[in-house]
Amino acid sequence: MKSIALFGATGSIGSSTLDVISHYPERYEVFALTANSRIDELVQLCKRFKPKIALVADSSRQQELRASLTEQGLSGIEVWAGQRAMAELAQLPEVDIDVLAIVGAAGLVPTFAAAQAGKRLLLANKESIVCGGSLLMKTIKETGAELLPVDSEHNAIFQCLAGADEKARADARLILTASGGPFRLRKDLSAVTPEEACAHPTWHMGQKISVDSATLMNKGLEVIEASWLFGFDPDRIDVVVHPQSLIHSMVQYADGCILAQMGAPDMRTPIAYSLAWPDRLDGHAQRVDFSQVGSVTFEAPDLDRFPQLAYAYEALKRGGATSIVLNAANEIGVQAFLTRQIGFTDIARLCRRLMDTFIPEAPATLEDIFAIDAMARVKAQEEIAQWLR
Ligand code: NAD
Ligand code: MG
Repeated sequence: MKSIALFGATGSIGSSTLDVISHYPERYEVFALTANSRIDELVQLCKRFKPKIALVADSSRQQELRASLTEQGLSGIEVWAGQRAMAELAQLPEVDIDVLAIVGAAGLVPTFAAAQAGKRLLLANKESIVCGGSLLMKTIKETGAELLPVDSEHNAIFQCLAGADEKARADARLILTASGGPFRLRKDLSAVTPEEACAHPTWHMGQKISVDSATLMNKGLEVIEASWLFGFDPDRIDVVVHPQSLIHSMVQYADGCILAQMGAPDMRTPIAYSLAWPDRLDGHAQRVDFSQVGSVTFEAPDLDRFPQLAYAYEALKRGGATSIVLNAANEIGVQAFLTRQIGFTDIARLCRRLMDTFIPEAPATLEDIFAIDAMARVKAQEEIAQWLR
């Protein structure tokens, strides 16, 4: 029996994770659930999964969570709150597996805590590896933590690299697939609305990653993520647009042979794989029926309309703190776009502006990463305020 702490339980990955777990009560126990602020949803999940601990990241909501649990007859569940509590929870000896399903750089705290404690980490939160890649991989090496990538592309690559020795890896290339998002065929992106940007053609996801998929920033973040996870420099990582989202990513070896991982576009598959690895568990996703697939197509990404993908390669090559700055500018930009303060193409404009004007020193510690992230957010907000003046 493995005991699980699920960070970001109320989100899209959180709910897919709980769905997988619910099929295997003899293998997995929900030890703790966390949410940022959506108390009602968290309480509903507590009712169903009966964790030992419920945690709300926004400490000002702690009393509300306690009262609501008591009202539902769940006063036996411990109530925790705040950032420090998240780190403490990720490291508890009772926890075997930490599932990191928080969105944004807010995921850094529990991700690093889990790595420091040598846990099995199911990492969905890509922003934490984008911001802290070098330090995170170093920590994992030191503590013997097990990092299993949940992001479907990285889960695919993890599977395609299985069995490859160091020599084979050294001569290989990674090929990340991208759906192309909802605007693959749209010429003018200036009037895109948040509703349009959040309507992804093949995946159902949280709002932030949906907008990231529409700008191709998501693929850019994934290139950075792949580089850290698998130790490939940016020149050995390609992106190809594959609108059917049937192939989740590929590895090309020195002889030109390509291994691809396929499946339905359903996050329950990589979640089940990471939970059970090295076993395989049925995540209860639909099976691919090749008689229904029809044509499968590939095309190059359009970097003119979607420049953020190119910015990610640039950030990786520049190194230092550039990825943190790009990520923070993007998070602020997406938020401002969703609240209709700025337009869709302004997200890329903001990223470009920050990458050109804010060049902090490379971080040496986790505290440095937090400080650079916080400064970049302030600068991005100042920039938007100037535009709106
Ligand atoms: P979501 O918006 O649906 O859920 C986010 C979760 O994070 C919620 O439970 C929320 O309570 C929590 N949260 C938000 N801000 C927080 C904060 N400041 N502190 C603590 N908790 C906070 O997001 P999602 O689509 O489930 O994505 C989660 C992560 O997984 C993202 O990093 C995303 O890029 C990655 N990911 C998602 C998918 C997908 O299919 N949804 C696929 C691959 C990777
Ligand atoms: Mg992905």
